Amino acid sequence: MLGVSSKQKLTLVNKKLEDAVKRLHEVALKEGLDVQVATGFRPQAIQDDLWKQGRTRPGPIVTWTRHSKHSLGLAVDLFFMVNGKADWGIGKFVALGKIAAKECPELEWSGNWKIAREFCHFQLKE
Ligand SMILES: [Zn+2]
Repeated sequence: MLGVSSKQKLTLVNKKLEDAVKRLHEVALKEGLDVQVATGFRPQAIQDDLWKQGRTRPGPIVTWTRHSKHSLGLAVDLFFMVNGKADWGIGKFVALGKIAAKECPELEWSGNWKIAREFCHFQLKE
């Protein structure tokens, strides 16, 4: 089941994305993948701040862009719940990417990108 936090995050993104992620959750669950939402909408001020990390202030670089689809409510970062714990296993994301390609054609999986690939990131196609 989608957790309270995941549901709340989905209320802040584009409705089409919300519906797609809910559908993806349902289908993936039948295949044993309990998909949850780590990040949905990210205000521009927070994106700008993330951009500074590793560039104008110390720390590892954590984002590729200042113009994230998250800031438009058009992207989510997902994870899996496994025995009550968060899991970011790449193998699970590869399986989820395949499910999404079949069941949610409106979604684009960043795991297929050659540049700025992020296994957890799904966004609405343009
Ligand atoms: Zn993302």
